[in-house]
Amino acid sequence: MNYDRLKMMLLDRLGPDAVIENADMRDYTSFRAGGKAKLLVIPEDMEELRYTLYMLGRAGDCSECGGCLSCGGCGGCEGADVVKNEDPVEYMIIGNGSNVLVRDGGFDGVIVRLGDGFDYVRAEADGTVVAGGATLLSSVAAAALKAGLTGFEFASGIPGSVGGACFMNAGAYGGEMKDVLVNVTVISKDGTIERLLPVSELELGYRTSVFEKSGDIVVKAEYRLSPGDKTEIEKKMRELRQKRNEKQPVNLPSAGSFFKRPEGHFAGALIEGAGLKGLSVGGARVSPLHAGFIVNEGGATCTDIESLMRLVQNTVEKETGVRLEPEVRIIGKGNKN
Ligand SMILES: Cc1cc2nc3c(=O)[nH]c(=O)nc-3n(C[C@H](O)[C@H](O)[C@H](O)COP(=O)(O)OP(=O)(O)OC[C@H]3O[C@@H](n4cnc5c(N)ncnc54)[C@H](O)[C@@H]3O)c2cc1C
Repeated sequence: MNYDRLKMMLLDRLGPDAVIENADMRDYTSFRAGGKAKLLVIPEDMEELRYTLYMLGRAGDCSECGGCLSCGGCGGCEGADVVKNEDPVEYMIIGNGSNVLVRDGGFDGVIVRLGDGFDYVRAEADGTVVAGGATLLSSVAAAALKAGLTGFEFASGIPGSVGGACFMNAGAYGGEMKDVLVNVTVISKDGTIERLLPVSELELGYRTSVFEKSGDIVVKAEYRLSPGDKTEIEKKMRELRQKRNEKQPVNLPSAGSFFKRPEGHFAGALIEGAGLKGLSVGGARVSPLHAGFIVNEGGATCTDIESLMRLVQNTVEKETGVRLEPEVRIIGKGNKN
């Protein structure tokens, strides 16, 4: 794939602030660890997003000139049959990066992150809340509080975006996105189709959704909350925040609970039971406060984190027969060193 040509076309349309080459993904992920992405693209609105996805979908090798459909090269690519697209661009959408880790060898493709035009929230007195895909859940919770709406308190401390939370069906303290979502607006992976999907079509389960299969990108979500008492809403949020601050290592970079909850167990309890609390590899440590968290104590590489992950998985499996699976989404190539 000719990345230079792709980069030039995206730069031309989106501008230099929105197209970053060799982006250090430590700056875009809550673990503050890992490698670089070949390109990071930040479309500011739907038009730029559509264009970006279209270009990513079409940026294959033209058999005539090695460019893409819109290459301005040989011109022969106007006829679809000269586009082989045998080397499509690998790309991934990220939100706030609070559940993603890029391996130290980097991501040999394009990361797309929704820009400021997708960061908005409107809360109506009747309980309807509409938010853009890049809006942080804390902002949605703040808007709900301001409008006197209850039902979103559980999510106020989850450091994800609306889009990432839909993908993960994020949840905490007995609530999950599934309980409050009404519908989402998505754009297809190739940027050509926009649809409104009701929550019943999202296949929301424990940290899963239809988006894993479909690759659709969530650009907007509508929630249904209930009118409530502002003082009570604020109190609940404060209590949950306090719980988090006491029980979770919130002051160190991490991706939250590293492992999914295995059926019938709690990952943290299994890890602690296996005597692994506090275990470290390089700069990565199983949190002494909450064994379900792996934290970056400073300078952890993704290799450190993955090595620690495997050590934990293997030891817990040996001791209990339960194989822990990561909740964190790890992408890219291993460390080249
Ligand atoms: C300190 C801490 C505490 C946490 N506590 C919780 C918790 O209580 N409960 C919980 O569930 N999680 C928790 N998490 C994990 C994380 O915050 C959630 O999984 C969150 O939903 C991820 O959102 P994000 O925007 O950061 O997504 P990212 O991490 O950027 O991406 C996660 C996945 O979503 C996909 N994605 C992102 N944006 C979109 C989009 N617009 N459309 C389609 N797919 C998209 C990505 O491709 C990726 O596969 C915690 C993390 C941290 C660091």
